[in-house]
Amino acid sequence: MRIVNAAGRASIVGGDGLLDVESASGGAFPADPQALYSLWDDFHSWAAGYTGGPTAPTDTLTFGAPAPRPRQVFAIGLNYRDHAAESGMDVPDTPVVFTKFPASITGPSAVVELPQGSVDFETELVAVLSRDTYRVPATRAWDHVAGLTLGQDLSERELQLRPPVPQFNLGKSYPGFAPMGPELVTADEFPDRDDIGLGCRLNGEQMQKSRTSDMIFPVAEIIAYLSSVLPLYAGDVIFTGTPAGIGMARDPARFLRPGDALVTFAEGIGSMRTQFISPL
Ligand code: ZN
Repeated sequence: MRIVNAAGRASIVGGDGLLDVESASGGAFPADPQALYSLWDDFHSWAAGYTGGPTAPTDTLTFGAPAPRPRQVFAIGLNYRDHAAESGMDVPDTPVVFTKFPASITGPSAVVELPQGSVDFETELVAVLSRDTYRVPATRAWDHVAGLTLGQDLSERELQLRPPVPQFNLGKSYPGFAPMGPELVTADEFPDRDDIGLGCRLNGEQMQKSRTSDMIFPVAEIIAYLSSVLPLYAGDVIFTGTPAGIGMARDPARFLRPGDALVTFAEGIGSMRTQFISPL
């Protein structure tokens, strides 16, 4: 199953168009995409048995983030070996965790204002949780995933890394710094949910290209680790780390500039186009 946030309304992607969840379910399920995750098992059962047709064409609507207002957003650093190497860091033996504050979330076709500094791109697979999760082992962690989507962990490196102590959370949380979408895709839709190709192109030039099978800590291990420490909630979002090719690791460094267009893609999920503009 594929879900989109179509102009603020949860919608299922069908062959011919979109199915508006609230109207098709007679109000049994809400229009708010974020509210759906707390009802995920019932929603998933209903959707699997639904036989009606689409209620809107796909091309007339603006998509938002499939999880627009999570209670918590987690992000994982140094989760691909080639990216750890380009960053001059050792491969970690436990996940490196930070947050992107939820105010940074935007949709898959956003226009993002560049703040002062050095703004970088990080293509990432994003997992959205389907239930409250605490102390779940990796062997059962996929049962807690509503689906997978695509994200950019945009990062202003000067604030992120400024001494005396790095400020990952702030430097990665400017408005629009967490584009997500376009679709939330359930794990059963992928030939292998742990081996998904992803990458990005900047003004048409390929900058990142990898596969999630190269992750050091796959999705299930990330969820087990996070939930060993604190409760995760239905609808929470996890950015799972970026592969090599970021702007900061290039020689010369390539940070985002006004006028840049960043296309981010993942197999089975689709692509996002993020446009960057000068500070207003
Ligand atoms: Zn990242």
